[in-house]
Amino acid sequence: MDIMQKTVDQIRLHQKNDESFIKEISLLAEQKGDAVYQASMQVLTSLDLSEKTAKLYWQEALEHRDQLSQTTGRKIELITAVSDYLSYVIDRSYTPRLIDTALYKDVLHDSVIDKLTALNNRAYFDQTFEQQLSLAKRYNTDLSLLFIDIDNFKEINDHFGHQAGDAALRRVAEIVTENKRDSDIAARFGGEEFTLLMPHTGSINGLILGERIREAVAESTFIASDDTFSMTISGGLASYPLHGKSTAEIIAIADQAVYQAKGAGKNLISVFKKDKRRYLRVKFSHPVIVKELEIEATSTHTGIGQNICIGGVLFKSSEALTIGSKIQIHTKIKKDAPLLLIGTVVRVEAFGPNEYDIGVAISFKEMEKIARDEIAGLLRAEN
Ligand code: GH3
Ligand code: MG
Ligand code: MG
Repeated sequence: MDIMQKTVDQIRLHQKNDESFIKEISLLAEQKGDAVYQASMQVLTSLDLSEKTAKLYWQEALEHRDQLSQTTGRKIELITAVSDYLSYVIDRSYTPRLIDTALYKDVLHDSVIDKLTALNNRAYFDQTFEQQLSLAKRYNTDLSLLFIDIDNFKEINDHFGHQAGDAALRRVAEIVTENKRDSDIAARFGGEEFTLLMPHTGSINGLILGERIREAVAESTFIASDDTFSMTISGGLASYPLHGKSTAEIIAIADQAVYQAKGAGKNLISVFKKDKRRYLRVKFSHPVIVKELEIEATSTHTGIGQNICIGGVLFKSSEALTIGSKIQIHTKIKKDAPLLLIGTVVRVEAFGPNEYDIGVAISFKEMEKIARDEIAGLLRAEN
């Protein structure tokens, strides 16, 4: 490997960490000689300097950087110091006024951008996740992570070819970008897996965004050389502080949620649930009307009237209820047996386009008119 390539690799490795880059360059120069400085200056500025001159400029630029940092009271970036030094400080026979830093920028760009999809890459994601988590902790805000994995992607590759697979990856990246907010950070985590970091976002809003992306992918047409196909994704959501306090914990939980979504039939976004409690579901012939208490009648959510369960109500809505909302559920368990249940929303999970599986803890104490045993009896009768 030549010196230039090694220098470029060092920049990639250290990304924007000037300190470790400088250290590595000096170590490399001890082994390989002054050609290392020549390569570094060329990568930084695209100037062809002799080994001797490059070494001198490199050393003086570093000193200049220290001085600038001291004068301004803040850390001056290596590239800024080098440019400043070359433009204004040196006054020798050769005084470049225009310094082309394009190559250095390209290297930095390449080190954080995934070539295939143009999203951020894994290295950038890892670094940004740590930073965003620190910010969330410091400012006491939510942070959500959505993990996306394409469903049956192996089959797509096998069926339509690797090129169509690559194009599909690019299209999924576009869909994620189109649907996310500017402040959300999308990355290709690896292979056919993507991540979306959502600062200031709790699990419900994260889920709504995940659901929007899932739906957009499911509705897209993907193009192969002489064919079109459709494709779906599964996703898992985990949030700080709800599911974990470290990046590793949150990633692991999001990953398990993806696994659960795959197990539940794919084309799903799910939030990891520890207890896989099965709710008792009872079919209805009448619509279930769910109404948030202390909120105007316009915010009533009318259900599809299919399932209700002790501990949970399943209904279709374009809005997700907020965890903690008190709701009333008007329904009929049997013909001519009107029932008013009062409960608190404890779980909101998207399970289809604009469909939310709302977990409601029903408080029997608060319930009007109907006694606990009577309801339990009615539910059993219908099951
Ligand atoms: P599942 O629904 O369980 O996720 O099934 P799957 O087939 O998507 O899962 P699996 O992880 O077994 O397969 C992922 C495939 O993604 C395998 C690999 O060939 C393909 N893949 C990974 N990276 C790329 C890439 O850059 N381009 C293409 N075309 N395919 C890729
Ligand atoms: Mg995978
Ligand atoms: Mg997959």
